[in-house]
Amino acid sequence: MRSLLPLLLLPLAAFAAEPRPLIIAHRGASGYLPEHTLAAKALAYGQGADFLEQDVVLSQDGVPVIFHDTHIDTTTDVARKFPGRQRADGRFYALDFTVAELKQLNVTERFNPQTGKAAFPQRYPVGVGSFQVVTLEEEIRFIQSLNRSTGRHVGIYPELKAPAWHRKEGRDLAAAVLPILRKYGYDAKESACFVQCFEYAEIKRLRGELGWTGKLIMLLGGKGQGPGETDFAYLQTDAGLAELAKLVDGIGPPIGSYVTGKSPAERRVTDLAARARRAGLKSHPYTLRADELPKCVATVDELLAALFTEAKVDGLFTDFPDLCLKR
Ligand code: CA
Repeated sequence: MRSLLPLLLLPLAAFAAEPRPLIIAHRGASGYLPEHTLAAKALAYGQGADFLEQDVVLSQDGVPVIFHDTHIDTTTDVARKFPGRQRADGRFYALDFTVAELKQLNVTERFNPQTGKAAFPQRYPVGVGSFQVVTLEEEIRFIQSLNRSTGRHVGIYPELKAPAWHRKEGRDLAAAVLPILRKYGYDAKESACFVQCFEYAEIKRLRGELGWTGKLIMLLGGKGQGPGETDFAYLQTDAGLAELAKLVDGIGPPIGSYVTGKSPAERRVTDLAARARRAGLKSHPYTLRADELPKCVATVDELLAALFTEAKVDGLFTDFPDLCLKR
């Protein structure tokens, strides 16, 4: 008589086939500690995030460093340490400082350099603690070392910031970043690494001229025109998604592209995740912030249910990895 065991195991196997969405720590556990510090990355790691995000720009001496913006005056004490080194627009840029100089800065919670006020008043206080600027290579070594000591396999999620701006400045950001990713084994499709970018021209260049073979995510703004001649509206149409599917593994649009509405009563889940899935693309929306929820939800759990259960996205950028993992 044939065993019934395979039949009994079927529902379990079907359940196991649907993994939970990837939790991507947006600039680290930045809801709790200053963004892009190793402390914020370690906390996100400890909270159980699957991927830790790096925003990458170049220093004056051509080293990929971790900053969300090309300017660095909203997250460091550069204005106090290097007075007079700002450009005509009043901003201080990573590209105008060597790594040795950047290492002299103290990284702090994000603030408005005009008023000194915190961007998120309920978060870690501005100016407290000593945190250093981190290079891409330092952060990769930190995460790989944690993977070694914990036995886990947490991945990296580097974003190439403003490649067109870097090129205007005579610099090639991707050409500096890719050799580092290759050196640390992130260039295969199965590697625990997603490279992300908002500029379509650069995405095409990564797959073409630069021969990048690892995973790629096309970041999308909500609507309209993006940087580097990127047409966000077109790329979210079925034709645009089909075109993208030839180059990238997934898309990273704002949460509002998946769940909309002026109030919880008017909440509506869009068909973007379903259309992307049909095109063969993953959906990794940004950014769940417990202290900046969209109007269409009242709680973090409502937003998670809408994104995970209704829209069925494949991953989520969040400043609060712990809140997304406790469901
Ligand atoms: Ca980013």
